[in-house]
Amino acid sequence: MIKVTGYAAKHSFSRLKKYEFEREDAKAHEVEIEVLYCGVCHSDIHQVKNEWHNTVYPCVPGHEIVGRVTKVGPAVRKHAVGDLVGVGCMIDSCGQCEACASGDQNYCMAPNSWLATYNGPMQPKSKVGENIYGRDNTFGGYSNMLVVKEDFVLKIPAQLKPEVAAPILCAGVTTYSPLKHWGVKAGDKVGIIGMGGLGHMAAKIAKAMGAEVTMFTRTREKIEEANKLGFDAVIEDDKQALKDLEASFDFMLSTVPEKHDINNYVQLLKRNAALVLVGALEPMAPVDNMQVAFKRRTVAGSLIGNLAETQEVLDFCAEHNIGPEIEIIRMQDINDAYNKVEKGDVRFRYVIDMASLKEEMGE
Ligand SMILES: [Zn+2]
Ligand SMILES: [Zn+2]
Repeated sequence: MIKVTGYAAKHSFSRLKKYEFEREDAKAHEVEIEVLYCGVCHSDIHQVKNEWHNTVYPCVPGHEIVGRVTKVGPAVRKHAVGDLVGVGCMIDSCGQCEACASGDQNYCMAPNSWLATYNGPMQPKSKVGENIYGRDNTFGGYSNMLVVKEDFVLKIPAQLKPEVAAPILCAGVTTYSPLKHWGVKAGDKVGIIGMGGLGHMAAKIAKAMGAEVTMFTRTREKIEEANKLGFDAVIEDDKQALKDLEASFDFMLSTVPEKHDINNYVQLLKRNAALVLVGALEPMAPVDNMQVAFKRRTVAGSLIGNLAETQEVLDFCAEHNIGPEIEIIRMQDINDAYNKVEKGDVRFRYVIDMASLKEEMGE
């Protein structure tokens, strides 16, 4: 067993605090990783607070992990000691269902679906009565060490700074996957709703794909920030601006992390175009199907991305020299950081420098 130090929430109402636990040593196909950086995703907060009603406590969040390989099992072929690697939202899937067989581990159809990097199987035993992974809880990247199957470990390209690469493992792939799936190409007009961690990353990726990007935000100060990053921006309740943009977009992506009304945006789609939601995982406000049907529009959802897409988006960001705008924080600042993320005060992704944990480990 490996002694590990992390930060955990003990209950839905508790602050994150230092937590010591053990991980099993790396098995034949597993890799041991010293965590260097971990991004702070809005879904960490949803799960710490049990807002998706599936949290198992203690909860050690973190699924935007970049680290250095410190040990490999005897059968590991893809990674070597010293490699800079990444781990995103998943650490296992059934490997046998139709989704897994076609490479979409993130849509695994096994009874427990995929195994999340933290908070255990997506479909917990308590809901489906079985557990193909043999564990109800998993502990994520707000910790100094991780042990993961080699197939679920990504390679961090040398051109990317490790701290910048971290948020690409969730925010990057969550936005890249639908942009790719719906075939966004050079010259397309793309609208991004919400300008947080996901939204600003989506805009950068779409622009690197050659699209013309407009961002929609409810925060007036973010208009100038979007312009600075090279994007057009519109305040969400600017009726005239919305009217001028009617039926003009080839693709729209909503990254808003909670229930919101998308009807104003549906009207901005061209005929046959799609609006895809990646931020909110909950019932949405009703959609007026008159608007959807009359132009054969699509309203759809998308969940993170598969392993191949995760490697692709890391390589894509390296090749196009793009990455998230980040602010490095110490592990000890995490509770304050959560408050700022909830208020929309972060610009645009917090990344925890895990070296800060060492102070609490007597090193
Ligand atoms: Zn995430
Ligand atoms: Zn599967």
